[in-house]
Amino acid sequence: MTTPTLAPPQTPLDVERVRADFPILGISARGKPLVYLDNAATSQKPRSVIEATSTYYEAQNGNIHRGVHYLSELATILYDETRATAQRFFNARHAHEIIFTRGTTEGINLVASGFAQSVLKPGDEIVLSTLEHHSNIVPWQLACERSGAQLRVVPVTESGELDIEAYHQLLNDRTRLVAITWVSNALGTINPVRDLVNAAHTRGIPVLLDGAQAAPHITVDVQEVGCDFFVCSSHKMLGPTGVGILYGTEAWLDRLPPYQGGGDMIDTVTFEKTTWARLPSKFEAGTPDIAGVVAFKHAMDYLDRVGLERIAAHEHEVVEYATRQVQEIPGLRVIGTAAQKAGVLSFVMDCAHPHDIGTILDSEGIAIRAGHHCAQPLMRRFGVPSTARASFYLYNTRDEVDVLVSALHKVRSLFA
Ligand code: PMP
Repeated sequence: MTTPTLAPPQTPLDVERVRADFPILGISARGKPLVYLDNAATSQKPRSVIEATSTYYEAQNGNIHRGVHYLSELATILYDETRATAQRFFNARHAHEIIFTRGTTEGINLVASGFAQSVLKPGDEIVLSTLEHHSNIVPWQLACERSGAQLRVVPVTESGELDIEAYHQLLNDRTRLVAITWVSNALGTINPVRDLVNAAHTRGIPVLLDGAQAAPHITVDVQEVGCDFFVCSSHKMLGPTGVGILYGTEAWLDRLPPYQGGGDMIDTVTFEKTTWARLPSKFEAGTPDIAGVVAFKHAMDYLDRVGLERIAAHEHEVVEYATRQVQEIPGLRVIGTAAQKAGVLSFVMDCAHPHDIGTILDSEGIAIRAGHHCAQPLMRRFGVPSTARASFYLYNTRDEVDVLVSALHKVRSLFA
């Protein structure tokens, strides 16, 4: 298995060395060298993650927690090693506060369903924000339908930042939960999550943080931030698809009912009554994506070796450079200009629809996202149906930004 040998955190990220660990970055797309700028949708995978997946199926595959034989025991050990790695990576107090899910979406649905069943009452309120991904809106709407609770929404400013004053005003005695994104996938805004959590906790209100766009880019310390729940997806942080994490404090996870029933989540079953297994099994019914979980450890190890601070510094430099370059293009408007931003550049052009921009860029081998980014309320807030979005990660270079910018000039020359 290849291990990147990178310099200590003080030195800038050696992007060429990083790129060499990602086989897909060497392919051509539409006959041009691939320029992959759709990292907010999903990240590419380093060789160590790819190899961990094939090694698992070649030499380690067995079902977890079920057998006394060698492979079952090995698979169980590997599965639990990822849990221990995630505990360290996110600094959870206990390994059993880490629940494996299919991803951010499932983590939010799990909590929303538990709240609907055992916490929410008619007239209760859940506070969200205009920045949310549909994954952090729709499960709460479903929970409201089941319980009679209502959504309250924090507005955003013209620069795409949360209106903090409005947030404070929305918190009241009826608020049962704040569910808010750490980093906006559509605009890149980084929310001041510690302050948001503190304000909610002062009133005894728990907080769920949608960390889908934070975990790949920011050092997440769940105890330091103090959130009650945190969710993220492996596939955005160099790991496989179909795997994610729900962190919840022991107190909350003990309080919520199981999300799904099935094998592994029980203590005893009779036709009259079933009792639940302890955490984390209570929330992990059925056979999960074991290979995916096992390989996810290697993704977190990779991020640790390169260093999230160094990755964030690199992305910051690339996105600042890209923002300066695209602002030179007449008729291009950047949407989302928050002071604290992750590596996301969302924009519209007066001469072309975002889908046309995406198509022209694709013909140049450049992958960006064009659409509403599963954030229709946010698009509505900015008066656009969709945007074009370039999103950067540790392996993107200034040269790739130059390719993007010259392709955008081409869009202008074709449509203007
Ligand atoms: N929340 C945010 C902020 C996201 O960016 C995404 C993915 N685009 C999700 C939730 C949903 O993640 P997943 O599809 O991996 O469950």
